Amino acid sequence: MDVAENLRHVEERIVRACADAGRDPGEVRLLPVSKTQPIDPILRVSELGYRRFGENRMQDLQAKTTRLRELGHPEIEFCVIGHLQTNKARIVAELVTEFQALDSVHLARELDRRCEATGRRLDVLVQVNSSGEASKSGIVPDDVLALAAELRHCPWLRVRGLMTIAVNSPQPGPVLACFDRVVEVQRRLRDAAFDGLNWDDLSMGMTNDLELAISRGATCVRVGRAIFGERATRGAQ
Ligand SMILES: *Cc1c(COP(=O)(O)O)cnc(C)c1O
Repeated sequence: MDVAENLRHVEERIVRACADAGRDPGEVRLLPVSKTQPIDPILRVSELGYRRFGENRMQDLQAKTTRLRELGHPEIEFCVIGHLQTNKARIVAELVTEFQALDSVHLARELDRRCEATGRRLDVLVQVNSSGEASKSGIVPDDVLALAAELRHCPWLRVRGLMTIAVNSPQPGPVLACFDRVVEVQRRLRDAAFDGLNWDDLSMGMTNDLELAISRGATCVRVGRAIFGERATRGAQ
């Protein structure tokens, strides 16, 4: 398995999906998801032009950050894409540039407080539970406006948009319905016109459904297996 070849293939999928959707590929950012992967493939992908990688476990993220600094790669950044316990907010405030899994007012307040203490602002996406499955994290669509209202009082969080994980289905219909729900939430948030909050970013789509997500307006796709190969079960969906 060649990571460079896999990456090229994913980039081609994105370009093709954009062409099919009449969109500019420059609007869609690829976030390689390096969770459960060792350092070497991360370095390979970083050499091919990617600096920010998705992780979901704080312990792994801390270990990888330390190792990358030892190896002389402080330029590599991490984006957290998994549910965060409030008591780990400090780690995110200190080590992470982007957080895509904001799902509660309580966590927002704690992250804002920790970011103020470290003096670093954090890019934030609100994770929406678009499938209604209890097993998926994220805030339910009806609660997003209340969270957004609170985010106006979190100046250290730079709010940029929404993230979702669609239902895992072989049929396109249910997957598209999840993405449509998020686009609808985005529309409601824009209508509410909260000062200082930006909802342009839509992080939707992974290895199995990135084309569908791009057809519905995704601006970020989070891809793990199609780049790095299958994961061991730990950290899998
Ligand atoms: C693991 C993970 C991904 C990547 O999934 P693949 O199917 O490996 O592309 C994307 N988003 C989130 C939130 C994840 O946990």
